Amino acid sequence: MATKKVNKQTIVTPIDERETFVSVAKSVSDADGITMDEKLRTLYQIQLKDTAIDKIHLQRGELPLEVQDMEDEVEGLKTRIANTQADIADIERRKADYKHAIEEAGLLIEKYSKQQDNVKNNREYESLGKEIEYQSLEQQVCEKRIGECDRELEEKNSLIAATNDRLSIFEANLVEKKKELETIIEETAAQEEKLQAEKEELQKKIDERMLVAYNRVRGAAKNHLAVVTIEREACGGCFNQIPPQRKLDIMQGKKIIVCEYCGRILVNPEYKAEYGEAVVE
Ligand SMILES: [Zn+2]
Repeated sequence: MATKKVNKQTIVTPIDERETFVSVAKSVSDADGITMDEKLRTLYQIQLKDTAIDKIHLQRGELPLEVQDMEDEVEGLKTRIANTQADIADIERRKADYKHAIEEAGLLIEKYSKQQDNVKNNREYESLGKEIEYQSLEQQVCEKRIGECDRELEEKNSLIAATNDRLSIFEANLVEKKKELETIIEETAAQEEKLQAEKEELQKKIDERMLVAYNRVRGAAKNHLAVVTIEREACGGCFNQIPPQRKLDIMQGKKIIVCEYCGRILVNPEYKAEYGEAVVE
């Protein structure tokens, strides 16, 4: 890990807003029978549990939201299909009405044609002829409307087919995603529960104020690490350099040493070998 060269003058500048561990450091003692070294080790282990839990949450991450989005999408497509089907039923009704009107007109034409055979004069004949003409015009209009209905039906049916295609793709994806989510939740639930229980056990050894400070610093840190080891001569959290005397204090583990730059607690790098390392993704 590369260490930054730091201007000596900046080292003496304390960062007030990040003094949470600093103020705790002044008050925490080993009067409770737990040595500072043990406290630091415990805090480091709590950090490891938290990082492992973070990792699980990250792993689950966006999946529930993705599933929700896909469910909404599927619902939307189903609604579109239902609406289009209602449109189709409506068009079919109109089409049936036009067909019925054509039949009615046909019957009238037949009737008027028969009456024409028995007319007494030309005027009656012509008047019936006009009726027949009117009815056949009516038939033509209805035929035209039926043609329009057929075109609309064709459009609606191809819209349904396309939507159905999309729907089946979405539904298949949704099933996959749900399965994926269930597997991840199942796999990780037991794991998370175990980590949580272990963390709670560790927390019993830690002063309440120290825990509050830990959680506050952890919450504020980008990588959610509040307890970091020193890496060569630098803070493992922000990589700013640590003066040799502070490094000695850290290695001894007799008091809380806080990084002046990032406010994290600095601990002995040997902890990594002992307890493992928090790997943040
Ligand atoms: Zn730092």
